[in-house]
Amino acid sequence: MSDQFDCVIVGSGTSGGVIAYYLTAGGMRCLLLEAGDAYSADTFPDNDMDGSARLFWGGGLELSTTAEMAFLRARCLGGTSVVNQCLLDRFDEHAWAAWQGASGIGFLSGEEMARHYAEVEGRLSIREVPAFHHNRNARLFVDGCQKRGYRWAPLRRGETDCAIEEGNDCIACLNGCRRDSKQSTLVTFIRWAQALGLQVRPGFQVEHIEASPDGVRLSGTHHGQPQEIRAPRVVLASGALGNARLLLRSGFEKRLPSLGRGFYCHPQLMTFAEFDEPVDAHRGAFQACKSDDPRFRKAGFKIENVFAPPTSVAMLYPGFGARLQAFMLRYRYLASVEVSVQDTVPGRISVDARGRLRIAKRLEGEDVRRGKAGLIAVREILESVGARTILQCPMSFGLHLMGGLAIGQDAQRSAVGGGFNLHGSPNIYAADSSIFPAAPGINPALTIMALSHRASLEILKGVIE
Ligand SMILES: Cc1cc2nc3c(=O)[nH]c(=O)nc-3n(C[C@H](O)[C@H](O)[C@H](O)COP(=O)(O)OP(=O)(O)OC[C@H]3O[C@@H](n4cnc5c(N)ncnc54)[C@H](O)[C@@H]3O)c2cc1C
Repeated sequence: MSDQFDCVIVGSGTSGGVIAYYLTAGGMRCLLLEAGDAYSADTFPDNDMDGSARLFWGGGLELSTTAEMAFLRARCLGGTSVVNQCLLDRFDEHAWAAWQGASGIGFLSGEEMARHYAEVEGRLSIREVPAFHHNRNARLFVDGCQKRGYRWAPLRRGETDCAIEEGNDCIACLNGCRRDSKQSTLVTFIRWAQALGLQVRPGFQVEHIEASPDGVRLSGTHHGQPQEIRAPRVVLASGALGNARLLLRSGFEKRLPSLGRGFYCHPQLMTFAEFDEPVDAHRGAFQACKSDDPRFRKAGFKIENVFAPPTSVAMLYPGFGARLQAFMLRYRYLASVEVSVQDTVPGRISVDARGRLRIAKRLEGEDVRRGKAGLIAVREILESVGARTILQCPMSFGLHLMGGLAIGQDAQRSAVGGGFNLHGSPNIYAADSSIFPAAPGINPALTIMALSHRASLEILKGVIE
């Protein structure tokens, strides 16, 4: 096996960037592979269509097998942390208890994970969106929650200076932040790791992985050219869909029967409400507040004020031609709130005979009931503040893609063990969104980082021993 690198990390997103930093800082020679290209504040696409085409898998959207659900995930250096909203929340005890129950892994608790949260939080700039940054959409959300007696809270975001007072609109950073304010791994952990010697190879898509007692062989294409890399150990950080796809293509389902199962995505349902006066929901801090109501948590959903760029709003509208045109002419008059469902009915990731991804996932059973309860609460909130018309979009989409390689003790029902290595493969690790054993109903990114910190310590411990 090559002695060039001690560890190769596949995927450079929320998990890959964090692991690359901690392993490099711990003295390991690491290579970070990323299927997508590298962009920076100066080169991020400056319009929505271009952003979808260049920064995302599937040109912006990937669809479930029945095309009822759409999924978004990034394909660029920094991964989905580049295009997400960087809302960073810790899990509550309810989420940890469900994970412990599903996995049988003792350290999955608020108490055990607290030091890992504190470690990654301590390196980032995180703050609550202040009330003086609320745009009219956020104010309507707050007023409506108060009128209906629902508890709300400010969102907690990784950012340095978004210059809202100077007229900056954060909605543009869904195509990458042009101020290096949003705390993506691109401008934090990856940058810090590169300063310590991390090697980064964008444009490298891994297609096959093979383990032997003396190491791991990866093969794929680098800017379209076939290439092979060997290393004593590999960390898979290509996300729920990426990890499952790679391992299924490589025949791992024979030893990991649960591979690809247990896929969750917090299905999101959008409501738009038209007002007589401009709302300008796209201005400033376009996402600022969330529900903080124990009744919603118990009912299995949360809501947040949010908005979307014009192409996404147009895509969500269920209609064509003159009706769509009339709706879009009212863009400035629209308020919007999303429902995010804590889904309980798992989907399944598989590959077809040609190795292409298939995602079987539907909103069904209990999850339909949860979504409907959320939509009723949103309608009440928007009606209470004088919405003229309300449109609830039929399409649901997944931004938090989780599972497929669940963590757990039982090798029949999970793929990754408590040491973060695949069952039966001591040299292949994962700590990203793919190892989630259930949907937490809470923004996942901070917990992915905390798990990645813990996994890094496990890997370093193994090397030193
Ligand atoms: C629009 C949007 C907004 C969001 N907002 C929030 C938020 O505010 N808060 C929050 O907590 N979560 C948010 N999320 C979700 C969150 O960003 C993801 O859950 C998280 O980034 C997943 O981390 P990951 O490391 O598992 O995967 P990713 O960050 O997706 O990284 C995986 C990387 O692996 C690469 N890759 C895949 N396959 C291969 C391969 N075969 N070879 C090489 N590289 C490969 C991908 O290109 C990608 O760069 C949002 C998501 C979206 C889409």
